[in-house]
Amino acid sequence: MFYFSQQLGLDLEELEEIEEDAGLGNGGLGRLAACFLDSMATLGLGAYGYGIRYEFGIFNQKVVDGWQVEEADDWLRYGNPWEKARPEYMLPVHFYGRVDHTPDGIKWVDTQVILAMPYDTPVPGYKNNTVNTMRLWSAKAPNDFNLEEFNVGDYIQAVLDRNLAENISRVLYPNDNFFEGKELRLKQEYFVVAATLQDIIRRFKSSKFGCRDPVRTCFETFPDKVAIQLNDTHPALSIPELMRIFVDVEHMDWDKAWDITKRTCAYTNHTVLPEALERWPVSMFEKLLPRHLEIIYAINQKHLDVMAFVYIDRLRRMSVIEEGDCKRINMAHLCVIGSHAINGVARIHSEIVKNSVFKDFYDIEPEKFQNKTNGITPRRWLLLCNPGLSDIIAEKIGEDFLTDLSQLKKLLDFVDDEAFIRDVAKVKQENKQKFSAYLVEQYKVKINPSSMFDVHVKRIHEYKRQLLNCLHIITLYNRIRKDPKKSYVPRTVMIGGKAAPGYHMAKMIIKLITSIGDVVNNDPYIGERLKVIFLENYRVSLAEKVIPAADLSEQISTAGTEASGTGNMKFMLNGALTIGTMDGANVEMAEEAGEENLFIFGMRVEDVEAMDKKGYNAKEYYDRIPELRQAIDQINSGFFSPDDPGRFRDIVNMLMYHDRFKVFADYEAYIKCQGQVDQLYMNPREWTKKVIKNIACSGKFSSDRTITEYAREIWGVEPSAVKIPPPNIPRE
Ligand SMILES: *Cc1c(COP(=O)(O)O)cnc(C)c1O
Repeated sequence: MFYFSQQLGLDLEELEEIEEDAGLGNGGLGRLAACFLDSMATLGLGAYGYGIRYEFGIFNQKVVDGWQVEEADDWLRYGNPWEKARPEYMLPVHFYGRVDHTPDGIKWVDTQVILAMPYDTPVPGYKNNTVNTMRLWSAKAPNDFNLEEFNVGDYIQAVLDRNLAENISRVLYPNDNFFEGKELRLKQEYFVVAATLQDIIRRFKSSKFGCRDPVRTCFETFPDKVAIQLNDTHPALSIPELMRIFVDVEHMDWDKAWDITKRTCAYTNHTVLPEALERWPVSMFEKLLPRHLEIIYAINQKHLDVMAFVYIDRLRRMSVIEEGDCKRINMAHLCVIGSHAINGVARIHSEIVKNSVFKDFYDIEPEKFQNKTNGITPRRWLLLCNPGLSDIIAEKIGEDFLTDLSQLKKLLDFVDDEAFIRDVAKVKQENKQKFSAYLVEQYKVKINPSSMFDVHVKRIHEYKRQLLNCLHIITLYNRIRKDPKKSYVPRTVMIGGKAAPGYHMAKMIIKLITSIGDVVNNDPYIGERLKVIFLENYRVSLAEKVIPAADLSEQISTAGTEASGTGNMKFMLNGALTIGTMDGANVEMAEEAGEENLFIFGMRVEDVEAMDKKGYNAKEYYDRIPELRQAIDQINSGFFSPDDPGRFRDIVNMLMYHDRFKVFADYEAYIKCQGQVDQLYMNPREWTKKVIKNIACSGKFSSDRTITEYAREIWGVEPSAVKIPPPNIPRE
């Protein structure tokens, strides 16, 4: 490859820069799925990743005048060399219509048909001669779309209307951790489910397991041969769709179909935020998926019949159907009922799942609930993005850590090795230089590469508390202004992330960050000591650049709100120290590395719960803490927005009177902890020793470990480290 590109007069690094991100997810959820595909291939598990081939992925973020502006992500414009259309596996998907209850069975009729065209992308394992498939579906109008008898008069309009059908895979909904009940989104969810299940069943039938009988498929072995892992509730329709196929199409009896469905499906919960949970209006199902609505009602009725011994209020809480001003279907409840395993994505999150969100279900079927702490693939998040660090690790412990990350533990022998300490510090400095050069080249932004790189990158969300970071920046700024002669640790604070286009508060947070930057970066009293950079268009390719350059990783969500986080793991593996709350996987990172090797601060889940009982009063903190009051007053009075002094009043009003995420309650502890960060940073040797301890203890957070657990404890298969023989491709 290298030689080919040279012969063509191309530089591989330049080519890499031109390559488009496949931005087919919003944040951590989609990235996790991608890491899992890498691990499954590397562990020799024959798995498929299914999804939608969005024509437009997550929007490109521009920052204009400090505000976020969205631009369509036309990632397929110049073609996509990695994919192959497979028209021979195209499948029909039905929508709308009505249900006919006939003597010889139930029929879903008068439907509108849309075709699902699969595009395959190879997923190679790491040096094991295994290649899996990611299969993404694209919506295609059938040739007779809209050309029914009553439409023959308007041929032109009918052809133009093909767009309507093909809109299903047009664009990714850009919300992260937020449910928006739009019909097109529900169509997307059924589209991927219906196409995928047909694909799976076709493959099962053509295997030696499915064809005992030439007319009637034997599905007894289906759950032994097929495992469907539901990545959040987005593919929850798999459960009623499997039931529809088994009962209506394959004429299986209900109880048997339900048993097979349950033993096939497993559900991963990714969030406990109520606003993120999918609750679809029944009215939408009546119109779009009438048969599925009947099936969901039947599933719910049988479930409630079994649960009838519990109190009536519990019964209502456990229903799939929520009554109220608008009847809704609770997709998480459907998933819990229709799966044999339910898991959270970090230990603390799995406990919350059992003890709060799904407590009623846990009380009745505790054996179904599991934990699978998230992970990241070390191939992308170490070897690819940080070759310098990878190299010096390999020099010490060999290369096997890339497929067995627990081997990083061996680095503990080198914590006091002066040469290794120097090498680790040197690689970090080189990464910082390189990233600084990138910022100059791309954005004409100059930063000081010897300052501390304090990095906070993730989707912009109130629960992730970018505002807490803002309060720290303002506090530092005020301290330097107040006592400019004192010595300060120079910091470059970099914050990046996309705001959902409809999320007003998140967009205001971006404008606040850029406004603070405008004041701080142009204040001659501050000079080189503090810079604030908003990293535009945070995405995987930017993460791969900034994370290896980071000194400090900001993981400061309110305890109990971040299910796991995976950004935290990427930073740890790349030699940044973490300042964080006891939330998500931070808890296990601290356990692995020792709490004294992270900067842990703030309320624990128990403290947050106690505060909720008592009532959180932000004003109390504002009145008591002068530096906090000064910062809030500055935001409120237009110090950072002289052209529009009232611009940030929504933010201040939220923080003071209805802050669900209790920013002020953690302010003091956070500022104090940041002081400890500065102290350690002044001692580069001690800092780097902690870095080495962190890297050495990050092995748990390989997605290979995560996938091994899914394989053994949910799917009932055993990963294999053996390298299969290479295929014998004859050469001409
Ligand atoms: C890893 C990753 C995320 C998830 O980050 P969190 O800090 O866990 O929210 C989001 N976006 C991108 C581009 C990532 O690479």
